[in-house]
Amino acid sequence: MRLPRRIPAHRCSHGCLWLHEHLYCPNCRTRLERVNIASAAVLVSHTTVRVNPTGEPIRLGVARTTTGATTLCVIRGVVRGNGRDRVVLVLRDGRFHALGRRARLDSDWQASASSRAQGQSAPRRHSRR
Ligand SMILES: [Zn+2]
Repeated sequence: MRLPRRIPAHRCSHGCLWLHEHLYCPNCRTRLERVNIASAAVLVSHTTVRVNPTGEPIRLGVARTTTGATTLCVIRGVVRGNGRDRVVLVLRDGRFHALGRRARLDSDWQASASSRAQGQSAPRRHSRR
């Protein structure tokens, strides 16, 4: 499965960049427009949440893209946790995932990604009729 090199983001006329959707910039209150930015990021902080509803430890981090947008993310794969890990951000089910080295895209991830891809192509097929 090929990883996307770009992820959706939102930028205001003053250059503030947000990965999560807002109608107006939380900093300067000007209207935001949707842009695509590089998915490359640096994992600047991380923690492990051991008590959560899933019963499995979840690794969470803060990633900063090369263009300066910051987001909370779920960590997948191997990271050193020294604040300099290079990761790739992937948006899945409304959450950002930071893929470190040897991140494995499990069968659940692939099934979800392929069903989304089919969902995106379905309306195009209907419109051709
Ligand atoms: Zn702004």
